[in-house]
Amino acid sequence: MRRFFFAANGAEPGDLVFLSREESHHISTVLRLRPGDIVELLDGYGGIYIATLVTVSKKVSARLEEKKELRPEGRSLIMAQAMLKGKKMDTVVQKCTELGAHRFLPFYSERCQKKPDPRQDLKRTERYARISLAACKQCQRPDIMHIETPFSFADVVKQQGLEKTVKLLFWEDEHQQRLDDLVFPDTIGSVMVLCGPEGGFTEQEVATARLQDFQTVSLGPRILRAETAALAATTLVQFLLGNM
Ligand code: SAM
Repeated sequence: MRRFFFAANGAEPGDLVFLSREESHHISTVLRLRPGDIVELLDGYGGIYIATLVTVSKKVSARLEEKKELRPEGRSLIMAQAMLKGKKMDTVVQKCTELGAHRFLPFYSERCQKKPDPRQDLKRTERYARISLAACKQCQRPDIMHIETPFSFADVVKQQGLEKTVKLLFWEDEHQQRLDDLVFPDTIGSVMVLCGPEGGFTEQEVATARLQDFQTVSLGPRILRAETAALAATTLVQFLLGNM
């Protein structure tokens, strides 16, 4: 069944709801669905509604028929990725969505080739959100990955509200601590993963992160490309959290 995201705003079965411009375009122009067709609407937080299309035009409306709630995953993964060159960031956003990351925090560190630019950053964040929404539909993920506008390095390592979070910085110069040395007690609520840019983290950045309780972790003796390291770290931590 075709799936689309919508802003539920407390809507209940029986209510008539309206879909966004993007989703309406997808339904009416791309998929050419018709009034009476049955679809699934996702509220982005695990709520899935069976709905009947009522009007199909620039602003699609649908009648909610039934609601089913999907149990969110236990402990969540927060992915913080240094801005990468070209389209690599799009790939990391898409794959982290498929792999079930809960939040995605892009950031600028010293060796990032891309530099902070408020106007560009807004456009980038909107594009990442579109890429992630499409990936949610493709992988049948009922909840959205929350994508935030890019941070500075100093701000991303000082995220608030992470008292029950294990914080891991993936560093190719870490030669002791490997992932399978780590234990994730049931008491933790989430794991935050920090992965670097093509040029890696500076020693100063690693020291700053350690002061914010980040542990440095190795992914083995080979130096992985930044986008490979991001996928390996996300997959392995999701596996260790029981989310795979
Ligand atoms: N600074 C390095 C260089 O240019 O020689 C390489 C950086 S690597 C391409 C990019 C990022 O991937 C690193 O900042 C780190 O987060 C991650 N990474 C790559 N290989 C890794 C490994 N073996 N263990 C842990 N993290 C790794």
